[in-house]
Amino acid sequence: MIKVEGVTKTFDSNTVLDDISTTINQGEVVAVIGPSGSGKSTFLRCLNLLEKPSSGAIWLNNSEITNLTNKLEVREQVGMVFQHFHLFPHMTVLDNVSYAPQKVKKLKTNEAEETATQLINKVGLGDKLDAYPNRLSGGQKQRVAIARALAMEPAVMLFDEPTSALDPEMVKEVLDVMKDLAQTGMTMVVVTHEMNFAREVADRVLFLDEGKLMEEGKPTTFFSSPTTDRAKAFLDKIL
Ligand code: ADP
Ligand code: MG
Repeated sequence: MIKVEGVTKTFDSNTVLDDISTTINQGEVVAVIGPSGSGKSTFLRCLNLLEKPSSGAIWLNNSEITNLTNKLEVREQVGMVFQHFHLFPHMTVLDNVSYAPQKVKKLKTNEAEETATQLINKVGLGDKLDAYPNRLSGGQKQRVAIARALAMEPAVMLFDEPTSALDPEMVKEVLDVMKDLAQTGMTMVVVTHEMNFAREVADRVLFLDEGKLMEEGKPTTFFSSPTTDRAKAFLDKIL
């Protein structure tokens, strides 16, 4: 579904992604892990063209996106969930979720709201349709953000440390929604420090260090027998 070939990203003289190549298959859940500053967010942002690679190419469903001028087309197909939610503060939960389908996909209000209501129910917030974000807990906000991304019917969902800003007691409710989503067959790329999630839910782990894809493999293999010293040192620190 996604093919990444030789992607390099530099900011001034700083090489943040260094010749990354990988393929992400339909329905696959890929966890991206690595130390702070290793390029995880930049990698994710390249996948929906929030950043443009300095060189290399990315294909989505067999069409190259790195030479597209219309980034919105890509963003419609690639949903993204951020660490800090980024909900629209002046809109209710229902409006947060139903807004983009009306604006971008030109759905009628009642259609968009019907789909949005289903998604909001699915993330367990059916009683919060009319609430504003400032009335929600962090975990609830993040579940709204997930519903909002899903409302665009993306082909792929990207998550950038979706639970890192949450109080510990709220992490599980968000991970549970993500697990459910994985079980529906959604293709997901998840930057996370939740190693249990990576171990249990991911089909594959990508380990980034200093902008390089140092290791790639099944979670069981990666966590039990990492091959590079970098990965060993990283896992020693966090596990
Ligand atoms: P991670 O998500 O793994 O912590 P990032 O992808 O956020 O890493 O950042 C990798 C490196 O790229 C860092 O050194 C960061 O300072 C740098 N970087 C990220 N975005 C920009 C930017 N827009 N301009 C300049 N440097 C950036
Ligand atoms: Mg990051």
